Amino acid sequence: MSSVPTIVVIGASYAGSAVVKSLDTSLKTKANIILIEEKESAYSTVSGLRATVEPGFAEHTWIPLDKIFVHNKASKVLHARVKGVTSSSVTLSTGENVSFDFLVVATGAVYGAPAGTQFTYVKDHVAQSEKIISAIQKADSVAIIGGGVVGLEFAGEIATDYPSKKVTIIHSGSVLIDKLKPTAATTAEINSQLASLGVKVLLNQKVVPKHGNSILPNGATFNLSRQSVHTASGETIESDVQFVATGVIKPNSEFIASLNVLDEFGYIKVEPTGQVKGYPKIYALGDVSNLDIGKLAYLAGSVQGPLVAANIATLIKNPNATTLQKYTPAVPGQFVVASIGRFGGFLQTPVGTFGAWLVALIKANRLLLKRTHESYNQTLRYKGIGNKVKNPHKSSSFGFVVPIAAVATFIAVGYTYFTR
Ligand SMILES: Cc1cc2nc3c(=O)[nH]c(=O)nc-3n(C[C@H](O)[C@H](O)[C@H](O)COP(=O)(O)OP(=O)(O)OC[C@H]3O[C@@H](n4cnc5c(N)ncnc54)[C@H](O)[C@@H]3O)c2cc1C
Repeated sequence: MSSVPTIVVIGASYAGSAVVKSLDTSLKTKANIILIEEKESAYSTVSGLRATVEPGFAEHTWIPLDKIFVHNKASKVLHARVKGVTSSSVTLSTGENVSFDFLVVATGAVYGAPAGTQFTYVKDHVAQSEKIISAIQKADSVAIIGGGVVGLEFAGEIATDYPSKKVTIIHSGSVLIDKLKPTAATTAEINSQLASLGVKVLLNQKVVPKHGNSILPNGATFNLSRQSVHTASGETIESDVQFVATGVIKPNSEFIASLNVLDEFGYIKVEPTGQVKGYPKIYALGDVSNLDIGKLAYLAGSVQGPLVAANIATLIKNPNATTLQKYTPAVPGQFVVASIGRFGGFLQTPVGTFGAWLVALIKANRLLLKRTHESYNQTLRYKGIGNKVKNPHKSSSFGFVVPIAAVATFIAVGYTYFTR
């Protein structure tokens, strides 16, 4: 290792930016950090669905990377796609090779658009979002295929901002968000909020692919013209706009496959320390790693990121250190928070489920955009839309499903902040 080690971090989203920020703070000029990101800016997936309903919102879901380094100005951001990795260097789409002493892989996973975006440039995402908004505005009916958290949040966004549209969720399970183990209280809260928004829910209805392996023409994950979808039980649902939210995600890990570190689903196999199995100088975290079953920005950015950064800092300060921090995977479904439109949602905790008012406060209002901007040392310029959209939950009481002391609420919220 040279006197000032080089740490290469691939991916500047929740996981990668958390590692970079922690290392920049803890090591200052004792290491050079090279952050490699193919996108022009970081994209806030957590806020992205609002861009499909609110004109002008999309541009704010992208956050510039120019202020990410505060203490070590010699560190830098390279915009390129990583194509290959060896035990000591990465190859970029530009043809450049970058050597490292430590490598952090934080390349996430692909979510179907528009829940996720594969665009490199802000302008392309903005243009796509405007097209979707315009199609929703013209539509009478919208079908959402898949009733996991993304499908539920999507339905909430559309039904809240466009109450006259007929929104239908088609879900194969017997309850919505079944994979997250909702309690009876959570299910009751979801059903009540969807009912007040007029969202129709079809349960136990598996949509069958009618276009090769795909539900929509050309393998698309959304479609902005009239189409019918068909369920295994013989129902046909017609709608003007369709979104597929079946929860299929694909880890961005192909560039590291040659090191034989991928599990059967393509996730990078890591030790509890964040080190890739068999490669102690290479770390992986966030959606691309197999550290957690549930893939969450909160776990990637607030828990795994600081842990990986601390372990690297320990080894830089003392290469012979034998005690590194170890990660304990989150219990799926223990804490779940989802928005249902800009005024609604629920927070499931071990002490009970909380409703619209609390989730509007901690998440739904701006989908954590301010906090995400601040985590890149940027200021959010978005001012909100005032009271253009009516709050369907306003007359409801505080939205408690289980009445418990306020103190417990805030401990739970502080603990989870934006977990699912
Ligand atoms: C609609 C929606 C809502 C969500 N809401 C929540 C929520 O409320 N709370 C929560 O905790 N989680 C939420 N999630 C999950 C959350 O978005 C993910 O867990 C999180 O984005 C994972 O962060 P990451 O940094 O690991 O990966 P990503 O966010 O996927 O980032 C990976 C980065 O790596 C870059 N990259 C990829 N490959 C390469 C390459 N080869 N070379 C260079 N750069 C590359 C990408 O451009 C990207 O910037 C939501 C997900 C969706 C789809």
